[in-house]
Amino acid sequence: MTIQSNISDVKARIERAAAECHRSSQDITLLAVSKTKPCDAILAAIEAGQRQFGENYVQEGVEKIQFFADRQDLVWHFIGPLQSNKSRLVAEHFDWFHTLDRQKIAQRLNDQRPSTKAPLNVLIQINISDENSKSGIKLEQLADLAKQVSQMPNLVFRGLMTIPAPETDYQRQCEAFRKMEQAYKQLQIHYPSVDTLSMGMTDDMTAAIHCGSTLVRIGTAIFGARDYHNV
Ligand SMILES: *Cc1c(COP(=O)(O)O)cnc(C)c1O
Repeated sequence: MTIQSNISDVKARIERAAAECHRSSQDITLLAVSKTKPCDAILAAIEAGQRQFGENYVQEGVEKIQFFADRQDLVWHFIGPLQSNKSRLVAEHFDWFHTLDRQKIAQRLNDQRPSTKAPLNVLIQINISDENSKSGIKLEQLADLAKQVSQMPNLVFRGLMTIPAPETDYQRQCEAFRKMEQAYKQLQIHYPSVDTLSMGMTDDMTAAIHCGSTLVRIGTAIFGARDYHNV
């Protein structure tokens, strides 16, 4: 399978899932997760029309952004966990940040965002079901963090992101995603800037779209299985 044909397959899956719940596939952004993949794989995706890319590791992501620096049409999302001592690189290079889970990081990103750049688009990460994961906040903590983030001038509060505990069963996948959908709709009442619900990966994208996802983060189905040896 080529990256180009993988992308058309993924787009067809998005179309189908959207049609099943009477949504427009235009309202669902495909984020190609290129972590661990080389620049020529990204180039193949660009040639297939893909423009939005997700990276998990700061150094690797920055290297790729610099490699493609003359492509002004690309949009780069940081979707991995972030240590505060690396926040400056994210603030200086990325367009989106999906994994905000504390005020300290928000403040650093706000302070470190260069004035020459548009404000950084930020999603708050919610730990919706994974008891073992330390990433993301509980829904009970959302109101406070949302309020703080929305007041930072160099950040734009765009919505929520989640990585639920892996489930193969569609109904179980939906249980977590439905909770996210509710929280997202609630948030939109208070914050007009909130327009993004980042959920759904290769194995649960259909359920995520049925539950209102506006952005799916797809790695394996586009680039194939990952090899972590060189990371
Ligand atoms: C790696 C990763 C993905 C992509 O996962 P696939 O199952 O390969 O599609 C999506 N989101 C996050 C946060 C990731 O770390």
